[in-house]
Amino acid sequence: MALFIPPWFSLSLPLRYAFDKTTALHDQPHDNISLSEDQPILCQQCRTVITTATAAIELAGQHAHRLTNPADVTFEVVLYREANCVAQGPPTWEHSWFTGFAWQLALCGRCAMHLGWLYTKPESLGFYGLIKTQLVFGKNGKIK
Ligand SMILES: [Zn+2]
Repeated sequence: MALFIPPWFSLSLPLRYAFDKTTALHDQPHDNISLSEDQPILCQQCRTVITTATAAIELAGQHAHRLTNPADVTFEVVLYREANCVAQGPPTWEHSWFTGFAWQLALCGRCAMHLGWLYTKPESLGFYGLIKTQLVFGKNGKIK
């Protein structure tokens, strides 16, 4: 799988220490995470497994965020710590919905459909904000 890993992403760091506490990111239990297990969340177009419910995270106490871009388009964005996406374009802070995080387009790792955005900042783990309507939630998929 073509997971995009930002250069500062360190798999050896436990998530609870790697997250910047000031961002109020709360990680879910994260033992034995695998994109192939439990409650798959799929690309709406090609049905590739993009992430799983166990990779869901919260920011400011919410997993799902209703957000409007400068073009006045509103998205329901759900947050995951990892996803089978390919980041496109240079990171930019312009109009970022999440303070301090730069964004890049996140495309499906298989069919390149626009699924959302990858958010990163130096010295912190990144996360994915995925567009709920671009995803198919597997049985028992955890979505609030
Ligand atoms: Zn796809």
